[in-house]
Amino acid sequence: MSYLDNFITRMMAQRTCIDLSRDLIRDVEGPILEFGLGHGRTYDHILQTFPDRDVYVFEKVVSPNVFVRPPEALLFEGDIHETVKTAAARLPRKAAMAHSDLGLRDRDGAVPIVASIIEYLPGLIAPGGLYISNTDISLVHGKVPPAYTELDTPEVPKGRYFIYRLA
Ligand code: SAM
Repeated sequence: MSYLDNFITRMMAQRTCIDLSRDLIRDVEGPILEFGLGHGRTYDHILQTFPDRDVYVFEKVVSPNVFVRPPEALLFEGDIHETVKTAAARLPRKAAMAHSDLGLRDRDGAVPIVASIIEYLPGLIAPGGLYISNTDISLVHGKVPPAYTELDTPEVPKGRYFIYRLA
């Protein structure tokens, strides 16, 4: 697979998962959380997919080149390793979904961040809500934690993106 193939596969997997989530959280109320704004491509797709929901963004440093900048009131700026720990106090209610694309390529660097996210996410996501991530959360404990169930998504290339339902 060329770098171009790899990039296109990743983009398509992201879009497929976000599109699938529309039905998967139809009955779960609450805002959406976006982890990693980058240029705002997936953020914009989420905004268009869920026009009636607030979308809160967690980003270390907002790029000056971002296509769509989130309103300050919906932005958690800083390292998600820390911001995820106290986010519940700022959210008006539990969220229906979190989508994570933090660009975590190196496994050792990813472990502490993913560990923090999966520890605090059950306090941020409503029962039946989703966690969509390009990182397999079983890399932290060697298995998917009991609060999460991995959904079978044949539409998504295996190992590229993961959708978990929270208990
Ligand atoms: N999904 C985005 C898009 O469609 O444009 C691309 C996201 S980009 C691959 C990853 C983003 O995650 C970067 O903006 C980076 O600053 C952010 N990020 C990486 N590690 C982070 C951390 N520990 N806390 C908060 N943001 C982080």
